[in-house]
Amino acid sequence: MSVRRGWNFLMTPGPTNIPERVQAAMNRPALEYAGPEFLELSLGVHKDIKQLFRTESEVFIYSANGHGAWEAALSNTISPGDTVLVPGTGQFSLGWSEMAKSLGANSIYLENDWRNGVDAAEVEQKLRDDNAHEIKAVLLVHTDTASSITSDIPAVRKAIDAAGHPALLMVDTIASMVTTDYRMDEWGVDVTIAACQKGVMMPPGISFTAANDKARKVGESANIGRNYWDWRTRRGAVHYTWYCGTGPVNMILGLREAIDMILEETLDGAYARHSRLANAVRAAVGVWGQEGTMEMNALVPGQAANGVTTIRVNDTIDVNALQSLLRDEFGVALGSGLGLLNGKTFRIGHMGYVSEPMILGALGSVETAFAMLDIDHGKGGVMAAIESLAKAKI
Ligand SMILES: *Cc1c(COP(=O)(O)O)cnc(C)c1O
Repeated sequence: MSVRRGWNFLMTPGPTNIPERVQAAMNRPALEYAGPEFLELSLGVHKDIKQLFRTESEVFIYSANGHGAWEAALSNTISPGDTVLVPGTGQFSLGWSEMAKSLGANSIYLENDWRNGVDAAEVEQKLRDDNAHEIKAVLLVHTDTASSITSDIPAVRKAIDAAGHPALLMVDTIASMVTTDYRMDEWGVDVTIAACQKGVMMPPGISFTAANDKARKVGESANIGRNYWDWRTRRGAVHYTWYCGTGPVNMILGLREAIDMILEETLDGAYARHSRLANAVRAAVGVWGQEGTMEMNALVPGQAANGVTTIRVNDTIDVNALQSLLRDEFGVALGSGLGLLNGKTFRIGHMGYVSEPMILGALGSVETAFAMLDIDHGKGGVMAAIESLAKAKI
């Protein structure tokens, strides 16, 4: 191994960089779980986390990754044999659909080229065709991290209402939370899924479901089989029940700090920062693509995600070699292509604890690696990113 100096750049779309403040907050001796200090901390976190969802509904916290929160949302609302409707948006929509099937549901997966967001008209038609109301939920990924596509949630709400269909709207915001405008209550979302290791700036390990009254009512009778995930038992008088056992104490300490940091920046401020940084990355990709060897995966500019950019390459480019060189020589980690996009794409993560110099450093490293590997690309991507940042209002 060669000796390297300087910081590693973690430019993956999860897990993401952890702020020093969050690390410091977690670096504490063990805390009594049943004592008053943890109780106060935990109640405060349960209350304040709601702001990130823009909801008044209860948010349930699990010691689990995002897949756990997917399972929590399904197992609290679906019964075996029920049908769910999953608009394709990328590998994560497919993964959630597969999970629903493995839990005993039928899943109608709406095929999509993973380069466009949800087709709300198609969702509306599927719901209109479902006279028997067999579809119990629409499972939608807000930002699909594999394709870097962000879908229009209010359009889907409108489609469900226009069809007069009672299906729940469940939205995965794991990659969009804090990076992209999201309004659970205003948009009429019934269940929101989130996790802590992307825009929320925490190490991986906890995830969330927020459930409104309609979803919790459905959950009273729905039963795919559950215990740990069960919303019905997670608000007992003893705080122990809120975590179905011992809570992740030091993670909650970190989460308190992360929430404080987000509220100091304000959610709108965080969305604006992510948008600014994403625009800089897109500007660079636009220039790199001028030789015809690579392009944005998102075909509609307004659907390109704020937190991650998926770049499609043609077969002259070996993405593994590119990623290896960046990792080994520069200490820059990028995201690989997922699922059908494996080998055909690479991803630059720009979510969470990221700033302008980190973006410029990452883009500069990528452009250097292109040159070292003799990859045909338009020159001047970094300059385009600089111009984009210079024009952006801070
Ligand atoms: C990261 C991610 C997941 C999976 O989360 P894990 O914590 O890896 O289980 C699911 N959905 C989306 C949109 C994601 O970005």
